Amino acid sequence: MLTLIKNGEIYGPEYMGQKDILLVGKQIGFIKDTIDVPANFVELEVIDARGQIVVPGFIDAHVHIIGGGGEGGFKTRTPEIQLTDATLAGITTLVGVIGTDGTTRTMLALLAKARSLEEEGISCFVQTGSYQVPVKTLTGKIEDDLILVDKIIGVGEIAIADHRSSQPTAAELAKLASQARNGGLLSGKSGVVNIHVGDSQNHLQVIEDVVETTEIPITQFYPTHINRNPHLFSAGLEFAKKGGYIDFTTSTIRKFLEEGEVKASTAIKRALEEGVDIRQITLTSDGQASLPDFDGNGNLRGLNIGTCMSLYDSVVDAILEDGVTIADAIRVVTENPASILKLEKKGRLEVGRDADIIIMKQPTLEIDCVIAMGQIMVKGGEAVVKGTFEK
Ligand code: ZN
Repeated sequence: MLTLIKNGEIYGPEYMGQKDILLVGKQIGFIKDTIDVPANFVELEVIDARGQIVVPGFIDAHVHIIGGGGEGGFKTRTPEIQLTDATLAGITTLVGVIGTDGTTRTMLALLAKARSLEEEGISCFVQTGSYQVPVKTLTGKIEDDLILVDKIIGVGEIAIADHRSSQPTAAELAKLASQARNGGLLSGKSGVVNIHVGDSQNHLQVIEDVVETTEIPITQFYPTHINRNPHLFSAGLEFAKKGGYIDFTTSTIRKFLEEGEVKASTAIKRALEEGVDIRQITLTSDGQASLPDFDGNGNLRGLNIGTCMSLYDSVVDAILEDGVTIADAIRVVTENPASILKLEKKGRLEVGRDADIIIMKQPTLEIDCVIAMGQIMVKGGEAVVKGTFEK
């Protein structure tokens, strides 16, 4: 299967000028100034991207693919993701996590869902564990999960600084991170520990304690929800200045923003203004998560649901409203997560990488076309490939 994308403005994520890209099967085969189709050539699909920008498919590195939530009882469990929830948002790679409920949401179900999304056409990896420590793994050990199960690339999301956290001590977190590190080293995976950071004043302290008292590097940790309140945001910028990665969550509700959550697109701009290296910043959607609204006593007031589309919306807002460059706004959802998660075939428009591509209209940045593993999933803004049970 050959697809030729002609005349697009290429952001790989850095600006590469106007070029043609030939996709060969599931990979990017050639990127050249001009690629012409010879007469009587084999069958190929040509997409004219003149006047449009061409960027790598987005990686959403924190999504509750089998649903999450349940903090208000069983009826508040959120539903599983469907294929077009991701593809219509330009997302071609998902990383699935479990979340609060490590009892009825299991690693078996998470892996099965990851495989179903792959059969439907996109790439999907998972983290082992849930909020709780000790971690409930698939095989019984973090190292074994990483070494033996292809789709498991790290541990998480482990909750800290939250009333729903199992309140791991620095010693417990250090043990867990060391297992993740060794499993990652031995399997050639990232072995990163994805940390859910809640609203408490302890912020990132327990991670910093581990980094200060052990040999485990700060980059072993990948904390998320750093924009959830102004205090955590400030602590996150300090963490990043010490070399740590920080992830901003894009799913939100107006009330959270009114209460002080830093809008994800604005968080990128402010982090850059504070001197944080763009390579340490990512965005994820927290898609399919419940967005529980607790009062000061931890009582549930209401629930909403996170969406993958918020990731795309935040990239657009970063460029059009917050003045972040196209290259930087694209980088935080492509090259950066690919490099943090060691997904070596993902995240860049480069010969030999997977053919995961978005074509966006200028200047609105509306999605025109999404290609995942060489297959056109979205065309003219419409899903041409649907999930098995989608109409
Ligand atoms: Zn979380």
